[in-house]
Amino acid sequence: MSDPTRHTDSYYAATAKGLTSYPQLKGDADCDVCVVGGGFSGLSSALHLAEHGYDVALLEAARVGWGASGRNGGQLGTGQRKGPDELEAIVGAEDTRRLWDMAEEAKTCVKDRIARHAIDCDLKDGHLGVAYKAGDVAEMHRYAELLATRYDYPRIRPVDRAELGDMLGSDIYHGGYLDSGAGHLHPLNYAIGLARAAVEAGARIFELSPAGRIERRATPRVTTDCGAVRARYLVLACNGYLGGLEPRIAGKIMPINNYVLATEPLGEARARELIRDDVSVSDTKFVIDYYRFSADRRLLFGGGETYRRSFPADMKSFVRKYMLRVYPQLAETRIDYAWGGTLAITMNRLPSFGCLDGTTFYAQGYSGHGVALTTLAGKLIAEAVAGSAERFDVFARIPQPSFPGGVLLRWPGLVAGMLYYSLRDKL
Ligand SMILES: Cc1cc2nc3c(=O)[nH]c(=O)nc-3n(C[C@H](O)[C@H](O)[C@H](O)COP(=O)(O)OP(=O)(O)OC[C@H]3O[C@@H](n4cnc5c(N)ncnc54)[C@H](O)[C@@H]3O)c2cc1C
Repeated sequence: MSDPTRHTDSYYAATAKGLTSYPQLKGDADCDVCVVGGGFSGLSSALHLAEHGYDVALLEAARVGWGASGRNGGQLGTGQRKGPDELEAIVGAEDTRRLWDMAEEAKTCVKDRIARHAIDCDLKDGHLGVAYKAGDVAEMHRYAELLATRYDYPRIRPVDRAELGDMLGSDIYHGGYLDSGAGHLHPLNYAIGLARAAVEAGARIFELSPAGRIERRATPRVTTDCGAVRARYLVLACNGYLGGLEPRIAGKIMPINNYVLATEPLGEARARELIRDDVSVSDTKFVIDYYRFSADRRLLFGGGETYRRSFPADMKSFVRKYMLRVYPQLAETRIDYAWGGTLAITMNRLPSFGCLDGTTFYAQGYSGHGVALTTLAGKLIAEAVAGSAERFDVFARIPQPSFPGGVLLRWPGLVAGMLYYSLRDKL
Protein backbone atom coordinates (compact mmCIF):
# COMPACT_ATOMS: atom_id res chain seq x y z
CA MET A 1 0.00 0.00 0.00
CA SER A 2 1.39 3.43 -0.88
CA ASP A 3 1.60 6.01 1.90
CA PRO A 4 -1.74 5.76 3.75
CA THR A 5 -1.15 8.93 5.74
CA ARG A 6 -1.62 11.28 2.78
CA HIS A 7 -3.64 11.47 -0.40
CA THR A 8 -1.92 10.59 -3.62
CA ASP A 9 -0.30 13.56 -5.38
CA SER A 10 -3.22 14.47 -7.64
CA TYR A 11 -5.02 17.54 -8.91
CA TYR A 12 -7.83 16.56 -6.56
CA ALA A 13 -5.62 16.49 -3.47
CA ALA A 14 -4.11 19.83 -4.47
CA THR A 15 -7.59 21.39 -4.66
CA ALA A 16 -9.22 19.55 -1.75
CA LYS A 17 -11.64 21.65 0.31
CA GLY A 18 -12.29 21.11 3.99
CA LEU A 19 -9.85 18.20 4.34
CA THR A 20 -10.26 16.98 7.92
CA SER A 21 -8.21 14.46 9.88
CA TYR A 22 -10.20 11.89 11.81
CA PRO A 23 -8.73 10.05 14.83
CA GLN A 24 -7.23 6.59 14.77
CA LEU A 25 -9.18 3.87 16.55
CA LYS A 26 -7.50 3.22 19.90
CA GLY A 27 -8.91 0.59 22.25
CA ASP A 28 -12.26 -1.16 22.08
CA ALA A 29 -15.49 0.28 20.74
CA ASP A 30 -19.04 -1.02 20.49
CA CYS A 31 -21.57 0.10 17.93
CA ASP A 32 -24.58 -1.08 15.94
CA VAL A 33 -22.83 -1.09 12.55
CA CYS A 34 -19.13 -1.14 11.74
CA VAL A 35 -18.39 0.09 8.21
CA VAL A 36 -15.03 -0.88 6.74
CA GLY A 37 -13.81 1.49 4.01
CA GLY A 38 -14.04 5.26 3.72
CA GLY A 39 -14.77 5.71 0.01
CA PHE A 40 -18.15 6.73 -1.40
CA SER A 41 -19.71 3.31 -0.59
CA GLY A 42 -18.62 3.30 3.04
CA LEU A 43 -19.26 7.00 3.62
CA SER A 44 -22.72 6.84 2.09
CA SER A 45 -23.50 3.72 4.17
CA ALA A 46 -22.36 5.51 7.33
CA LEU A 47 -24.40 8.60 6.49
CA HIS A 48 -27.61 6.74 5.66
CA LEU A 49 -27.26 4.35 8.62
CA ALA A 50 -26.69 7.23 11.03
CA GLU A 51 -29.77 8.94 9.63
CA HIS A 52 -31.71 5.74 10.34
CA GLY A 53 -30.64 6.15 13.98
CA TYR A 54 -27.87 3.53 14.12
CA ASP A 55 -24.68 4.03 16.08
CA VAL A 56 -22.02 3.73 13.33
CA ALA A 57 -18.23 3.41 13.45
CA LEU A 58 -16.37 3.63 10.13
CA LEU A 59 -12.83 2.26 9.82
CA GLU A 60 -10.67 3.62 6.99
CA ALA A 61 -7.22 2.12 6.44
CA ALA A 62 -5.82 5.39 5.11
CA ARG A 63 -7.68 8.71 4.73
CA VAL A 64 -11.29 9.37 3.76
CA GLY A 65 -11.47 9.25 -0.07
CA TRP A 66 -7.94 7.84 -0.32
CA GLY A 67 -8.99 5.01 -2.68
CA ALA A 68 -10.77 5.14 -6.03
CA SER A 69 -13.33 7.63 -4.69
CA GLY A 70 -10.75 10.39 -4.33
CA ARG A 71 -8.91 9.66 -7.58
CA ASN A 72 -11.45 8.87 -10.29
CA GLY A 73 -12.55 10.63 -13.46
CA GLY A 74 -15.50 12.24 -11.67
CA GLN A 75 -17.98 11.17 -14.35
CA LEU A 76 -21.46 10.76 -12.93
CA GLY A 77 -22.88 8.21 -15.34
CA THR A 78 -26.41 7.19 -16.28
CA GLY A 79 -27.73 3.63 -15.93
CA GLN A 80 -25.59 0.58 -15.26
CA ARG A 81 -22.29 -0.26 -16.92
CA LYS A 82 -24.28 -2.51 -19.31
CA GLY A 83 -27.14 -1.32 -21.49
CA PRO A 84 -30.72 -2.59 -21.03
CA ASP A 85 -30.50 -5.26 -23.75
CA GLU A 86 -27.51 -6.98 -22.20
CA LEU A 87 -28.97 -6.57 -18.72
CA GLU A 88 -32.25 -8.18 -19.73
CA ALA A 89 -30.37 -11.25 -20.90
CA ILE A 90 -28.76 -11.53 -17.45
CA VAL A 91 -31.48 -10.50 -14.97
CA GLY A 92 -34.74 -10.42 -16.98
CA ALA A 93 -36.96 -7.53 -17.95
CA GLU A 94 -38.40 -6.67 -14.53
CA ASP A 95 -35.10 -6.41 -12.69
CA THR A 96 -33.62 -4.50 -15.64
CA ARG A 97 -36.34 -1.92 -15.16
CA ARG A 98 -35.72 -1.82 -11.40
CA LEU A 99 -31.98 -1.43 -11.95
CA TRP A 100 -32.60 1.38 -14.41
CA ASP A 101 -34.92 3.19 -11.97
CA MET A 102 -32.42 2.83 -9.15
CA ALA A 103 -29.56 4.06 -11.34
CA GLU A 104 -31.63 7.18 -12.03
CA GLU A 105 -32.23 7.48 -8.28
CA ALA A 106 -28.46 7.13 -7.77
CA LYS A 107 -27.72 10.29 -9.79
CA THR A 108 -30.51 12.14 -7.98
CA CYS A 109 -29.15 10.95 -4.63
CA VAL A 110 -25.71 12.38 -5.43
CA LYS A 111 -27.17 15.70 -6.56
CA ASP A 112 -29.45 15.89 -3.51
CA ARG A 113 -26.63 15.18 -1.11
CA ILE A 114 -24.46 17.84 -2.72
CA ALA A 115 -27.27 20.37 -2.38
CA ARG A 116 -28.43 19.31 1.09
CA HIS A 117 -24.95 19.32 2.66
CA ALA A 118 -23.63 22.25 0.60
CA ILE A 119 -20.77 20.11 -0.77
CA ASP A 120 -18.53 22.32 -2.89
CA CYS A 121 -17.49 19.81 -5.59
CA ASP A 122 -17.90 21.55 -8.96
CA LEU A 123 -20.96 19.53 -10.04
CA LYS A 124 -21.87 20.06 -13.72
CA ASP A 125 -24.50 18.49 -15.97
CA GLY A 126 -23.81 16.83 -19.31
CA HIS A 127 -22.01 13.85 -20.79
CA LEU A 128 -21.00 13.00 -24.35
CA GLY A 129 -20.64 9.35 -25.30
CA VAL A 130 -18.47 9.15 -28.44
CA ALA A 131 -17.92 6.36 -30.97
CA TYR A 132 -14.31 5.34 -31.40
CA LYS A 133 -15.19 3.14 -34.35
CA ALA A 134 -17.64 3.97 -37.12
CA GLY A 135 -19.43 0.70 -36.42
CA ASP A 136 -20.25 1.84 -32.86
CA VAL A 137 -22.46 4.75 -33.95
CA ALA A 138 -25.59 2.81 -34.87
CA GLU A 139 -25.54 0.98 -31.54
CA MET A 140 -25.12 4.24 -29.62
CA HIS A 141 -27.99 5.88 -31.46
CA ARG A 142 -30.15 2.82 -30.81
CA TYR A 143 -29.23 3.03 -27.12
CA ALA A 144 -30.27 6.70 -26.98
CA GLU A 145 -33.52 5.86 -28.77
CA LEU A 146 -34.23 2.95 -26.40
CA LEU A 147 -33.73 5.09 -23.29
CA ALA A 148 -35.91 7.85 -24.69
CA THR A 149 -38.77 5.56 -25.75
CA ARG A 150 -38.78 2.49 -23.49
CA TYR A 151 -37.32 4.08 -20.34
CA ASP A 152 -39.00 7.51 -20.65
CA TYR A 153 -35.63 9.20 -20.37
CA PRO A 154 -35.87 12.45 -22.29
CA ARG A 155 -32.39 13.74 -21.49
CA ILE A 156 -30.45 11.76 -24.10
CA ARG A 157 -30.26 12.33 -27.85
CA PRO A 158 -28.17 11.02 -30.75
CA VAL A 159 -25.35 13.20 -32.11
CA ASP A 160 -23.98 12.74 -35.64
CA ARG A 161 -20.41 13.20 -36.77
CA ALA A 162 -20.93 16.72 -38.12
CA GLU A 163 -22.48 18.01 -34.88
CA LEU A 164 -19.82 16.26 -32.83
CA GLY A 165 -17.21 18.15 -34.85
CA ASP A 166 -18.68 21.39 -33.43
CA MET A 167 -18.80 20.05 -29.90
CA LEU A 168 -15.28 18.62 -29.58
CA GLY A 169 -11.89 19.84 -30.78
CA SER A 170 -11.05 16.35 -32.03
CA ASP A 171 -11.91 14.68 -35.31
CA ILE A 172 -11.27 11.07 -34.36
CA TYR A 173 -14.84 10.16 -33.43
CA HIS A 174 -17.74 9.12 -35.66
CA GLY A 175 -20.79 10.25 -33.68
CA GLY A 176 -22.38 9.42 -30.34
CA TYR A 177 -24.98 10.76 -27.94
CA LEU A 178 -25.43 13.68 -25.57
CA ASP A 179 -26.81 12.83 -22.13
CA SER A 180 -27.73 15.99 -20.25
CA GLY A 181 -28.83 13.99 -17.17
CA ALA A 182 -25.32 12.64 -16.51
CA GLY A 183 -22.55 14.97 -15.39
CA HIS A 184 -19.26 15.37 -13.58
CA LEU A 185 -17.82 16.46 -10.25
CA HIS A 186 -14.66 16.77 -8.13
CA PRO A 187 -14.72 13.33 -6.51
CA LEU A 188 -12.39 13.92 -3.56
CA ASN A 189 -14.35 17.00 -2.51
CA TYR A 190 -17.55 14.99 -2.79
CA ALA A 191 -16.03 12.30 -0.51
CA ILE A 192 -14.88 14.92 2.00
CA GLY A 193 -18.39 16.39 2.01
CA LEU A 194 -20.04 12.99 2.52
CA ALA A 195 -17.71 12.32 5.47
CA ARG A 196 -18.64 15.66 7.05
CA ALA A 197 -22.34 14.89 6.55
CA ALA A 198 -21.94 11.42 8.08
CA VAL A 199 -20.24 12.85 11.17
CA GLU A 200 -22.91 15.55 11.48
CA ALA A 201 -25.50 12.76 11.39
CA GLY A 202 -23.72 11.07 14.32
CA ALA A 203 -21.34 8.54 12.70
CA ARG A 204 -17.80 8.14 14.06
CA ILE A 205 -14.97 7.97 11.51
CA PHE A 206 -11.55 6.48 12.28
CA GLU A 207 -8.69 6.99 9.83
CA LEU A 208 -5.39 5.09 9.67
CA SER A 209 -7.34 2.19 11.14
CA PRO A 210 -7.08 -0.79 8.78
CA ALA A 211 -9.38 -3.67 9.64
CA GLY A 212 -6.94 -6.58 9.88
CA ARG A 213 -9.19 -9.42 10.91
CA ILE A 214 -12.87 -10.17 11.21
CA GLU A 215 -13.92 -12.50 13.99
CA ARG A 216 -17.18 -14.07 12.92
CA ARG A 217 -19.31 -14.53 15.98
CA ALA A 218 -22.97 -13.86 16.70
CA THR A 219 -21.75 -10.30 17.20
CA PRO A 220 -18.87 -9.81 14.72
CA ARG A 221 -15.65 -8.17 15.91
CA VAL A 222 -13.22 -6.30 13.68
CA THR A 223 -9.68 -5.82 14.90
CA THR A 224 -7.23 -3.12 13.85
CA ASP A 225 -3.59 -2.57 14.89
CA CYS A 226 -4.61 -0.47 17.88
CA GLY A 227 -8.14 -1.53 18.75
CA ALA A 228 -11.27 -3.49 17.96
CA VAL A 229 -14.90 -2.77 17.13
CA ARG A 230 -17.74 -5.07 18.11
CA ALA A 231 -20.91 -4.51 16.11
CA ARG A 232 -24.25 -6.14 15.37
CA TYR A 233 -23.70 -5.61 11.62
CA LEU A 234 -20.71 -5.11 9.35
CA VAL A 235 -20.53 -3.30 6.02
CA LEU A 236 -17.56 -4.16 3.80
CA ALA A 237 -16.92 -1.29 1.40
CA CYS A 238 -13.28 -1.89 0.47
CA ASN A 239 -13.75 -2.44 -3.29
CA GLY A 240 -10.41 -2.73 -5.15
CA TYR A 241 -8.49 -2.53 -1.86
CA LEU A 242 -10.25 -5.48 -0.16
CA GLY A 243 -7.20 -7.77 -0.34
CA GLY A 244 -7.73 -10.91 1.71
CA LEU A 245 -9.99 -9.38 4.38
CA GLU A 246 -13.02 -11.48 3.37
CA PRO A 247 -12.03 -14.37 1.07
CA ARG A 248 -15.66 -15.30 0.39
CA ILE A 249 -16.16 -12.14 -1.69
CA ALA A 250 -12.61 -11.46 -2.88
CA GLY A 251 -12.85 -13.87 -5.83
CA LYS A 252 -15.86 -12.03 -7.24
CA ILE A 253 -13.77 -8.97 -8.02
CA MET A 254 -10.50 -8.23 -9.72
CA PRO A 255 -8.50 -5.13 -8.76
CA ILE A 256 -7.18 -3.22 -11.77
CA ASN A 257 -5.40 0.14 -12.04
CA ASN A 258 -6.49 3.10 -14.08
CA TYR A 259 -4.81 6.49 -14.59
CA VAL A 260 -5.65 10.18 -14.90
CA LEU A 261 -3.62 13.29 -15.77
CA ALA A 262 -4.29 17.00 -15.30
CA THR A 263 -2.81 19.52 -17.72
CA GLU A 264 -1.82 23.02 -16.81
CA PRO A 265 -4.80 25.45 -16.78
CA LEU A 266 -5.72 26.13 -20.43
CA GLY A 267 -8.02 29.12 -20.01
CA GLU A 268 -11.69 29.43 -20.88
CA ALA A 269 -11.33 29.94 -24.63
CA ARG A 270 -9.04 26.93 -25.15
CA ALA A 271 -11.26 24.77 -22.94
CA ARG A 272 -14.28 25.69 -25.08
CA GLU A 273 -12.36 24.74 -28.24
CA LEU A 274 -11.66 21.28 -26.87
CA ILE A 275 -15.02 20.56 -25.18
CA ARG A 276 -17.50 23.24 -26.19
CA ASP A 277 -20.18 22.67 -23.57
CA ASP A 278 -18.03 21.71 -20.56
CA VAL A 279 -19.51 18.21 -20.48
CA SER A 280 -17.66 15.02 -19.59
CA VAL A 281 -16.69 12.71 -22.45
CA SER A 282 -16.04 8.97 -22.71
CA ASP A 283 -15.49 6.74 -25.71
CA THR A 284 -16.33 3.17 -26.70
CA LYS A 285 -12.87 1.61 -26.50
CA PHE A 286 -12.50 -1.49 -24.32
CA VAL A 287 -10.01 0.49 -22.22
CA ILE A 288 -12.00 3.69 -22.15
CA ASP A 289 -10.62 7.20 -22.65
CA TYR A 290 -12.59 9.64 -20.47
CA TYR A 291 -12.04 13.33 -19.99
CA ARG A 292 -13.49 16.66 -18.95
CA PHE A 293 -12.42 20.08 -17.71
CA SER A 294 -11.80 20.99 -14.09
CA ALA A 295 -13.22 24.16 -12.59
CA ASP A 296 -9.87 25.90 -13.18
CA ARG A 297 -9.83 24.77 -16.81
CA ARG A 298 -7.34 21.95 -16.77
CA LEU A 299 -8.05 19.01 -19.03
CA LEU A 300 -8.48 15.97 -16.77
CA PHE A 301 -7.82 13.02 -19.04
CA GLY A 302 -8.17 9.39 -17.97
CA GLY A 303 -6.83 6.49 -19.98
CA GLY A 304 -4.78 3.32 -19.79
CA GLU A 305 -4.98 0.39 -17.43
CA THR A 306 -2.49 -1.96 -15.82
CA TYR A 307 -3.09 -5.24 -14.07
CA ARG A 308 -0.15 -5.58 -11.69
CA ARG A 309 0.20 -4.12 -8.23
CA SER A 310 2.60 -1.27 -8.99
CA PHE A 311 1.84 1.81 -11.09
CA PRO A 312 4.03 2.85 -14.07
CA ALA A 313 7.05 4.87 -12.95
CA ASP A 314 6.20 7.76 -15.31
CA MET A 315 2.42 8.14 -15.16
CA LYS A 316 2.47 11.50 -16.98
CA SER A 317 3.95 9.91 -20.11
CA PHE A 318 1.79 6.83 -19.69
CA VAL A 319 -1.50 8.78 -19.90
CA ARG A 320 -0.25 11.57 -22.18
CA LYS A 321 -0.01 9.27 -25.19
CA TYR A 322 -3.74 8.51 -24.93
CA MET A 323 -4.52 12.23 -24.63
CA LEU A 324 -2.44 13.08 -27.70
CA ARG A 325 -4.34 10.59 -29.85
CA VAL A 326 -7.49 12.60 -29.10
CA TYR A 327 -5.95 16.06 -28.91
CA PRO A 328 -2.63 16.15 -30.85
CA GLN A 329 -2.78 19.95 -30.54
CA LEU A 330 -1.82 19.55 -26.85
CA ALA A 331 1.67 18.25 -27.68
CA GLU A 332 3.29 21.33 -26.10
CA THR A 333 0.94 21.48 -23.13
CA ARG A 334 2.46 20.96 -19.69
CA ILE A 335 1.17 18.07 -17.60
CA ASP A 336 0.97 19.16 -13.96
CA TYR A 337 -0.30 15.96 -12.31
CA ALA A 338 -0.76 12.30 -13.10
CA TRP A 339 -1.91 9.61 -10.71
CA GLY A 340 -3.35 6.13 -10.59
CA GLY A 341 -6.05 4.40 -8.60
CA THR A 342 -7.33 0.88 -8.11
CA LEU A 343 -10.89 -0.10 -8.90
CA ALA A 344 -12.64 -3.45 -8.77
CA ILE A 345 -14.22 -5.06 -11.80
CA THR A 346 -16.48 -8.11 -11.87
CA MET A 347 -16.74 -10.84 -14.50
CA ASN A 348 -19.93 -9.36 -15.99
CA ARG A 349 -19.08 -5.71 -15.18
CA LEU A 350 -22.17 -5.39 -12.95
CA PRO A 351 -21.87 -4.61 -9.23
CA SER A 352 -21.41 -7.36 -6.66
CA PHE A 353 -23.68 -6.85 -3.62
CA GLY A 354 -24.62 -9.36 -0.97
CA CYS A 355 -24.99 -10.35 2.65
CA LEU A 356 -22.94 -12.99 4.50
CA ASP A 357 -24.03 -14.76 7.69
CA GLY A 358 -27.03 -12.41 8.00
CA THR A 359 -24.73 -9.78 9.51
CA THR A 360 -22.20 -8.66 6.88
CA PHE A 361 -23.33 -6.55 3.94
CA TYR A 362 -21.00 -5.78 1.06
CA ALA A 363 -21.08 -3.67 -2.11
CA GLN A 364 -18.18 -3.72 -4.55
CA GLY A 365 -17.14 -4.23 -8.17
CA TYR A 366 -18.79 -1.23 -9.85
CA SER A 367 -16.42 -1.83 -12.77
CA GLY A 368 -15.62 1.82 -13.47
CA HIS A 369 -19.22 3.01 -13.07
CA GLY A 370 -19.34 3.73 -9.35
CA VAL A 371 -19.54 7.49 -8.86
CA ALA A 372 -23.34 7.46 -8.83
CA LEU A 373 -24.06 3.86 -7.79
CA THR A 374 -21.91 3.97 -4.62
CA THR A 375 -24.05 6.65 -3.00
CA LEU A 376 -27.13 4.56 -3.76
CA ALA A 377 -25.37 1.45 -2.42
CA GLY A 378 -25.05 3.12 0.98
CA LYS A 379 -28.73 4.02 0.94
CA LEU A 380 -29.74 0.44 0.03
CA ILE A 381 -27.46 -1.06 2.68
CA ALA A 382 -29.03 1.18 5.33
CA GLU A 383 -32.50 0.10 4.18
CA ALA A 384 -31.44 -3.56 4.34
CA VAL A 385 -29.94 -3.24 7.82
CA ALA A 386 -33.19 -1.57 8.90
CA GLY A 387 -35.12 -4.60 7.64
CA SER A 388 -36.20 -3.64 4.09
CA ALA A 389 -33.87 -5.53 1.81
CA GLU A 390 -36.12 -5.64 -1.30
CA ARG A 391 -34.17 -3.01 -3.21
CA PHE A 392 -30.75 -4.18 -2.01
CA ASP A 393 -31.74 -7.68 -3.15
CA VAL A 394 -32.32 -6.55 -6.74
CA PHE A 395 -28.57 -5.92 -6.89
CA ALA A 396 -27.71 -8.91 -4.69
CA ARG A 397 -29.46 -11.33 -7.05
CA ILE A 398 -27.46 -10.27 -10.12
CA PRO A 399 -25.58 -13.50 -10.85
CA GLN A 400 -21.99 -12.80 -9.93
CA PRO A 401 -19.59 -15.61 -10.87
CA SER A 402 -16.15 -15.71 -9.29
CA PHE A 403 -13.13 -15.17 -11.49
CA PRO A 404 -11.72 -18.47 -12.74
CA GLY A 405 -8.74 -19.47 -10.65
CA GLY A 406 -10.14 -17.92 -7.46
CA VAL A 407 -8.33 -15.30 -5.41
CA LEU A 408 -4.84 -16.66 -5.97
CA LEU A 409 -4.93 -17.68 -9.62
CA ARG A 410 -7.38 -15.20 -11.18
CA TRP A 411 -4.62 -12.90 -12.49
CA PRO A 412 -3.10 -14.76 -15.46
CA GLY A 413 -6.47 -15.37 -17.16
CA LEU A 414 -7.61 -11.81 -16.61
CA VAL A 415 -4.39 -10.27 -17.83
CA ALA A 416 -4.45 -12.36 -21.02
CA GLY A 417 -8.10 -11.43 -21.65
CA MET A 418 -7.67 -7.73 -20.95
CA LEU A 419 -4.56 -7.47 -23.08
CA TYR A 420 -6.38 -9.19 -25.95
CA TYR A 421 -9.24 -6.67 -25.84
CA SER A 422 -7.00 -3.63 -25.35
CA LEU A 423 -5.02 -4.82 -28.38
CA ARG A 424 -8.27 -4.85 -30.36
CA ASP A 425 -8.70 -1.14 -29.47
CA LYS A 426 -5.44 -0.45 -31.23
CA LEU A 427 -6.29 -2.34 -34.42
C1 LIG B 1 -8.64 6.16 -12.03
C2 LIG B 1 -10.09 5.83 -11.85
C3 LIG B 1 -11.05 6.49 -12.60
C4 LIG B 1 -12.40 6.21 -12.43
N1 LIG B 1 -13.31 6.97 -13.09
C5 LIG B 1 -14.63 6.80 -12.83
C6 LIG B 1 -15.58 7.68 -13.40
O1 LIG B 1 -15.24 8.65 -14.06
N2 LIG B 1 -16.91 7.42 -13.17
C7 LIG B 1 -17.32 6.37 -12.39
O2 LIG B 1 -18.52 6.19 -12.22
N3 LIG B 1 -16.41 5.56 -11.77
C8 LIG B 1 -15.10 5.76 -11.95
N4 LIG B 1 -14.18 4.99 -11.31
C9 LIG B 1 -14.68 3.98 -10.35
C10 LIG B 1 -15.08 4.65 -9.01
O3 LIG B 1 -14.06 5.49 -8.57
C11 LIG B 1 -15.36 3.55 -7.98
O4 LIG B 1 -16.39 2.71 -8.47
C12 LIG B 1 -15.82 4.10 -6.63
O5 LIG B 1 -15.03 5.16 -6.20
C13 LIG B 1 -15.80 2.97 -5.61
O6 LIG B 1 -16.00 3.52 -4.34
P1 LIG B 1 -15.81 2.59 -3.07
O7 LIG B 1 -16.13 3.41 -1.89
O8 LIG B 1 -16.60 1.34 -3.27
O9 LIG B 1 -14.27 2.17 -3.12
P2 LIG B 1 -12.97 3.05 -2.78
O10 LIG B 1 -13.19 4.47 -3.06
O11 LIG B 1 -11.82 2.40 -3.44
O12 LIG B 1 -12.85 2.94 -1.22
C14 LIG B 1 -12.43 1.76 -0.55
C15 LIG B 1 -11.75 2.22 0.73
O13 LIG B 1 -11.60 1.10 1.58
C16 LIG B 1 -10.41 1.27 2.29
N5 LIG B 1 -10.02 -0.04 2.81
C17 LIG B 1 -9.65 -1.14 2.10
N6 LIG B 1 -9.36 -2.15 2.93
C18 LIG B 1 -9.57 -1.69 4.18
C19 LIG B 1 -9.45 -2.27 5.47
N7 LIG B 1 -9.04 -3.55 5.64
N8 LIG B 1 -9.74 -1.53 6.56
C20 LIG B 1 -10.16 -0.25 6.42
N9 LIG B 1 -10.28 0.37 5.20
C21 LIG B 1 -10.00 -0.37 4.12
C22 LIG B 1 -9.45 1.85 1.27
O14 LIG B 1 -8.35 2.49 1.88
C23 LIG B 1 -10.35 2.78 0.50
O15 LIG B 1 -10.30 4.11 0.97
C24 LIG B 1 -12.82 5.21 -11.49
C25 LIG B 1 -11.85 4.55 -10.72
C26 LIG B 1 -10.50 4.85 -10.89
C27 LIG B 1 -9.49 4.15 -10.03
